[in-house]
Amino acid sequence: MNQSSFAPIVRDYPHFLHGGDYNPEQWMATPEVWDEDFRLLKEAHCNTLTVGVFSWAALEPEEGRFTFDWLDTIFQKALDNEVRIILATPTAARPAWLAAKYPEVLRVDSQRRRQLWGGRHNHCLTSPIYRQKADIINTLLAQRYGQHPMTSVWHVNNEYNGECHCPLCQNAFRVWLQTRYNNDLDALNRAYWAGFWSHTYTNWEQIESPSPIGERQVHGLNLDWKRFTTDQTIAFFRAESKPLREITPDIPITTNYIGGYAGLDYYKIARELDVVSWDSYPDYHDREDSWRSAIFVSFLHAQRRAMLGKPFLLMECSPGVQNYKPFCKLKRPGLHLTECLQSVAGGADSILYFQWRKSLGSVEKFHGAVVDHYATSETRVFAEVAELGRVLESLNDVVGSTHRAQVGIIYDYENRWAIEDSAGPRNKDKAYAEVCTEHYRPFWQAGVSCDIISEDHSFDNYKLLIAPMLYMVRPGVAERIEQFVKNGGTFITTFLSGLTNETDLCFQNGFPGPLRELTGVWAEEIDALYDDESVPVEANPDNGYGLSGTYQAKTYCDLLHAESAQVLATYGAQFYAGKPALTVNNVGAGRAFYMASRNDTRFTTDFYTHLIDELGLRRALGVALPEGVTADVRFAGDREFIFLLNFRREAQTVELGAQSYTDRISGQPISGTTILPAYGSMVLEPQP
Ligand SMILES: [Zn+2]
Repeated sequence: MNQSSFAPIVRDYPHFLHGGDYNPEQWMATPEVWDEDFRLLKEAHCNTLTVGVFSWAALEPEEGRFTFDWLDTIFQKALDNEVRIILATPTAARPAWLAAKYPEVLRVDSQRRRQLWGGRHNHCLTSPIYRQKADIINTLLAQRYGQHPMTSVWHVNNEYNGECHCPLCQNAFRVWLQTRYNNDLDALNRAYWAGFWSHTYTNWEQIESPSPIGERQVHGLNLDWKRFTTDQTIAFFRAESKPLREITPDIPITTNYIGGYAGLDYYKIARELDVVSWDSYPDYHDREDSWRSAIFVSFLHAQRRAMLGKPFLLMECSPGVQNYKPFCKLKRPGLHLTECLQSVAGGADSILYFQWRKSLGSVEKFHGAVVDHYATSETRVFAEVAELGRVLESLNDVVGSTHRAQVGIIYDYENRWAIEDSAGPRNKDKAYAEVCTEHYRPFWQAGVSCDIISEDHSFDNYKLLIAPMLYMVRPGVAERIEQFVKNGGTFITTFLSGLTNETDLCFQNGFPGPLRELTGVWAEEIDALYDDESVPVEANPDNGYGLSGTYQAKTYCDLLHAESAQVLATYGAQFYAGKPALTVNNVGAGRAFYMASRNDTRFTTDFYTHLIDELGLRRALGVALPEGVTADVRFAGDREFIFLLNFRREAQTVELGAQSYTDRISGQPISGTTILPAYGSMVLEPQP
């Protein structure tokens, strides 16, 4: 994992990819626009275009009749102008003729309604016809452009999402279940606790996917359906990728993930990819507290990076406005550079936009683009893009550099699905992602790198492992955590942990189930708090972990019995006043904490700041940072690149400590105290 640095994602091209989604097929009638685009690309310091996303109708206007001439022209212009091409398969939307002739390719929703043609992501994940048609067009694309010197990355499909409930998918689901349960229907019934409400299956054919007009309260079934949907998406991805792998084995393959989307298990899909990529559309909207949304964006970067343990591609962001938000705010001056350097700080080796040029019509005509409807380089957005391009060109030595996280935070999709499906202990705002982000926040604020990982990820590289709301504990996970602790690791888990197994059946040995012995506590009951309710948490004066005075708990309070664990804080009110709110259990060379409540920011900050210092975790700058300012380090061998980012709308003063740096953007030496402007950023390299 701690490799010193990686080869560039595009072979022999050690540069940040800068550019974005381009749809020349929308400008067939005015090909002079193409020439203008390539001229403007250079002016914008861009070097990469993603083409082919949603281009199927332009590539195959009738079944079996292919029209590559326009794309040939674009590739030639790319070659002439040294512009790299990320070539997409066109399968995220389909031509009308395909849906009209083969209705089976259209998706069926959970109410069993076949969708009409239109939109995007409206395809069956199982349909043999759709896979066959995808194979034909993808094979032709790979044969025609696979050897082209500008073809750099395969972008398969686009933002996979959703599920299909058609008869083909139902059959595939039953086959998937037969494999999972070894053809043993009784085993499935036991896993689903089918005696409840007379839900026992006596024939595989009786099993249907969850539906609002049928069954949706068997949690094991719901979980398996979501697992199946991920697996069926992977199966579709593999079918699409097969000709690409065969014809162009040296060109890396990716598919782009959607922000915080949690309908698919992105960790599992990542194992299929050569490089992870994702689309980031932050809300930095000029409010007093809008800087806080930067924490979750960094959280997602840390997750994407940790999936394969190497740099990823930022496949989409907006160079300007996002047209689908309730309030389509303009990007504030300077923020574009900082938002993009945040992506680079998090591990991106590209900054790619949706979109290069604005369309004249349809739903995204007002979404931000480098080139506006009035196609001039004399716009504010164009100038900020060109400025970023110049900065990226000066940072080639950052490409391929790595992170060295010593903290792992478990944020697991299957766990999330199970929590969200659960009826009780609280049904309003289960807040799993929010709680995980709250545990990440002190590290973000201190400039300490974390990996965001699944339950299945190796824990070997970490000193600190945090598992908020580890509701579902899959087989083998508790054992691996126990080994981590015995080997000297520090483990923290919280309320709502160790409740169910991989089919969402409750543990019977006292919660937190398989973590009870390790944590040394029995969580007898869970109290759900109203939104406007809080319960005081009193730190023991001699707790030894940086806690002091009274904190406030909200949302959830576990009622614990400390068994072998030592109590560090207790509740200060309610009928459970005096019961443990924070415990630690020493096991082997390590220790396991149980945090019984969702606590205020001061609590998590005090507690984790103490652990950061006690464990000697690397702070990017070695010093504390003002609120709303963060820092992250990328390493290339002995070299370090420190990204210092201000998400506040006011300038912030940062003490740099004793170390002297070179500011890689200005090229000037810098030391002592510096002022980061509003939404300002720096890339610092320590001077020897
Ligand atoms: Zn289907």
